[in-house]
Amino acid sequence: MSNPKQSKECIFCKIIEGTLPSEKVYEDDRVFAFRDISPQAKTHVLIIPKKHVVDILDVSAEDAHVFSDLLRAVQHIAPQLGIAGTGFRTVFNSGDHACQTIYHLHLHLLGGEQLGGSMVG
Ligand code: AMP
Ligand code: ZN
Repeated sequence: MSNPKQSKECIFCKIIEGTLPSEKVYEDDRVFAFRDISPQAKTHVLIIPKKHVVDILDVSAEDAHVFSDLLRAVQHIAPQLGIAGTGFRTVFNSGDHACQTIYHLHLHLLGGEQLGGSMVG
């Protein structure tokens, strides 16, 4: 039985490894960022930890730097993509009610145009 929550079947782990293609926008030793394949805004990037963790709740105290790693990456990527001045939205989806579809923690970075007033863009 396949389990998409396991790293060996995770498509984001395969993107980090380079065995699946992506349009990379940023990488450092702990973080990888690439354009969303189905963008919900003119600029839509996914920022992920290189370590496979399923969601916010799966981050151990030992790995808590993952959260600051992702937000530090936003500080690099937003100016790089020209959306620092105009503004952007950052979103984590966790679990079924939030419609999480990929079970490797990812921070959505959305901008490049006026977003809707709702939380989900
Ligand atoms: P979520 O609904 O929060 O789990 O978001 C998963 C996101 O991953 C969606 O916005 C998808 O469009 C995006 N996605 C899925 N597969 C790929 C892929 N191969 N490359 C880039 N983005 C992807
Ligand atoms: Zn993964």
